[in-house]
Amino acid sequence: MKRVYMDANATTPLLPEVMEAMRPYWMERFGNASSIHLDGQQAHTVVDRARATLAEFFNCRDAEVVFNSGGTEGDNTAIFGMLHPGDHFITTSIEHSAILEAAKRVAQHGVETTFVAPEKSGLINPAAILRAIRPETRLISVMLANNETGVLQPVEEIGRIAADTGVFFHIDAVQGAGKVKFDVRRFGCHLCSISAHKMHGPKGVGAMFVRRGTPLEPLLVGGSHERRQRAGTENVPGIVGLAKAAELAMHSLEDGTIDRLAKLRDRLEAGVLKISGTGVNGAQIPGAPGASHLGTWESTNPVPRAANTTNIWFDQVEGEALVISMDLKGVAVSGGSACHSGATEPSHVLMAMGLDKTRARASLRFSLLKTATEADVDYVLKVVPEAVEHLRAISPVAVGTAG
Ligand code: PLP
Repeated sequence: MKRVYMDANATTPLLPEVMEAMRPYWMERFGNASSIHLDGQQAHTVVDRARATLAEFFNCRDAEVVFNSGGTEGDNTAIFGMLHPGDHFITTSIEHSAILEAAKRVAQHGVETTFVAPEKSGLINPAAILRAIRPETRLISVMLANNETGVLQPVEEIGRIAADTGVFFHIDAVQGAGKVKFDVRRFGCHLCSISAHKMHGPKGVGAMFVRRGTPLEPLLVGGSHERRQRAGTENVPGIVGLAKAAELAMHSLEDGTIDRLAKLRDRLEAGVLKISGTGVNGAQIPGAPGASHLGTWESTNPVPRAANTTNIWFDQVEGEALVISMDLKGVAVSGGSACHSGATEPSHVLMAMGLDKTRARASLRFSLLKTATEADVDYVLKVVPEAVEHLRAISPVAVGTAG
């Protein structure tokens, strides 16, 4: 059976060039970058070269790049490494759990967090961030692209607020990296986390931009690696893979790949929306009453989204049943609920955007790989209506209701 993978926001496969770049560093060139002999020096040179590529990717100095194990570590490091008892922290209620759970942890150590809610469109209003700032606010953390809706957050505006108020600013850019033009100077952040496996690189490796002079305490100690900012023997093959993925991502933004991806996503979205009783989560709310730039950020038209993502609700369908039914037909997508300690909870992101539990549960996230094709979209557009029709036909919820 044909399989189409449309769950790129969960993870992506390596591009062949990434695999080829990494290959020598598992066996022939296995040196430890800290060793002083030739093998070590070669590994060190390779890590330095990768660092220069990441510096180009972030638009920062080489010395401002710290390699780590990925997004969770970057997010945790920003919070645990910046906040002390008595500090105030501002983040949003739509962040990844790597931020939300870390905020819960620091709460036990006297750090209070304000969770700013998004507007209905999924956008965070920078004015709401500004309103949350207090004299003791030390850190703001806002994601670049939401993992569930793809909505791109106004990080530049938030960066300006952080600069004006003297607050440190971290961006979880795990889902934005490789999908939007990247420039930490333009974003105005002090810290920025990315992960290789969301951009066709290997799992378990990532990087963090740490602006020079930012007083970030390391999460891991026990070695002088990464200028004492992150102890642990460097994952040389992983770092090489991350650098190759970053290099390819930079090309994709220039050579039309991302524009092509947006067009494919738009075609998919338009096709799915032909099914009755559906709608996009994280799109412009047409004619939002009284929308004004100061009052509600929702007047931004259209709401900017990462090129590869669409999140769609389906009336009278159980989202999990739809995920399974599509999987059986060869299509991998993910639903609007997550399993927490055995119980299925509706997505905190969709709930924060004001969806009710039923609609949040009945939502699907389609996230396209950079390598997605027209044929993939055609296949998914054949499978979704069939699956929805079938589930609605057997759904007790649908009995007696129209379309
Ligand atoms: N932040 C966001 C927005 C994510 O989507 C993810 C992964 O899903 C993470 C952080 C965690 O990244 P990693 O899987 O590299 O730990």
